Amino acid sequence: MTHPEFDAIVIGAGSVGNPTACFLAWEGLRVLVLDELPSSGQGQNKAAIGGVRATHSDPAKIRLGQQSLEVFAGWKSATGIDIGWKKGGYCFPAFDEHVESTLQKLLPIQKSFHLNIDWVGVEGIRRVVTGINPEGLRGGTYSPDDGQVSPLRASESFTNEAVRHHAEYRYREPVTSLLMEDHAVIGVKTDRGEYRAPVVINAAGAHATRICQMAGLDIPVRPESHEAGISAPVQEFLAPLVVDLRPGPEGKTINFYFGQDSDGQVIFCYTPATPFSGENRTSTFEFMPIAAARLVNLIPRLRNLTIRRVWRGLYPMTPDGAPVVGKAPNVEGLLLGIGMCGQGFMLGPGVGKNLASLVLHGTPAMDPEVFDQLSPARDLYGGGKESLR
Ligand SMILES: Cc1cc2nc3c(=O)[nH]c(=O)nc-3n(C[C@H](O)[C@H](O)[C@H](O)COP(=O)(O)OP(=O)(O)OC[C@H]3O[C@@H](n4cnc5c(N)ncnc54)[C@H](O)[C@@H]3O)c2cc1C
Repeated sequence: MTHPEFDAIVIGAGSVGNPTACFLAWEGLRVLVLDELPSSGQGQNKAAIGGVRATHSDPAKIRLGQQSLEVFAGWKSATGIDIGWKKGGYCFPAFDEHVESTLQKLLPIQKSFHLNIDWVGVEGIRRVVTGINPEGLRGGTYSPDDGQVSPLRASESFTNEAVRHHAEYRYREPVTSLLMEDHAVIGVKTDRGEYRAPVVINAAGAHATRICQMAGLDIPVRPESHEAGISAPVQEFLAPLVVDLRPGPEGKTINFYFGQDSDGQVIFCYTPATPFSGENRTSTFEFMPIAAARLVNLIPRLRNLTIRRVWRGLYPMTPDGAPVVGKAPNVEGLLLGIGMCGQGFMLGPGVGKNLASLVLHGTPAMDPEVFDQLSPARDLYGGGKESLR
């Protein structure tokens, strides 16, 4: 069955797809969003712990982060809806010389984009991260304008806004192929029918490569599995999201990060040094003992925290650790907002702004030269970037 035509079709109601659909619907476009899962935000969006920052290490991600923060921070005044925005900042404490110099080397580029971030001495970090274990602490960076948002509330609110502006959402409806005419995408096919639009946006997260393959493109986005946990609420004591870059005593983890959300729950996650490739989402028995030791070592007063639940989700990884955003190479009518790695929630609204601008005006919503760093046509295996993912 052929359905009515749309101005744009978004594949994936996730961290990228929902804000993209919302911004397009706000502009009066007839938008269709298709997702294979039963409701919005049920892919990796709900796995995120909700850290949002602009203080990245490369220009394109900095700009996307700035655009996202504008959306998150202004959401309540724009729509009246509370998405759990907490402007508590980000703090990267340093306990060794290597981390200290890595963080300090990033400051000039971060400051050149007017980011509010600085090196703070030991006493400053102790003031910002209440109860931090000062043993070996050398100082750290602090960026007070970053923060946290609830991924569940945000995806619900982006979806509701899109629907209020007449976007149509269809769930449990996987896209099985793209409708092509010559080298142009003219719509999508699902198990229930065909839908046509001059623009199709691939925001399919961990499954984005499959959608690219439907257009004959080979763009590698590989799922990598990461675990997280959340505590029962406790009295507010911690403003920033804290990123501890030390390897743990077990030598297996890097990038342990945690914060206290706007409901008082402590939420935490780490990046294993040896990545778990694939889609396995069964919680491991290793995670909680490692995470608990890291947490208590860093903030000893958390030793009595009650953990409510743990979960495991996927980072949609690219070989160079940066997202792939823009017009698909050599295929008309297909835009990509994929490969978000460990930062798709915080970059989602920025990516959505740029995709919407490409649809509406043919140009991105930032300096095109900076945007080009995300280009789907770039050499994804160029590698060697220093990135705090
Ligand atoms: C433990 C953990 C903690 C994290 N913490 C953070 C954090 O603090 N901050 C941050 O920014 N990021 C964080 N992330 C990363 C973040 O969750 C992801 O980068 C982000 O959700 C990816 O967004 P996406 O829109 O690309 O994918 P998703 O949100 O997964 O959306 C993709 C959607 O596409 C749908 N789809 C796929 N294929 C098809 C198809 N064929 N047809 C129809 N629908 C399809 C899926 O069902 C899904 O709903 C974390 C991830 C994990 C696992």
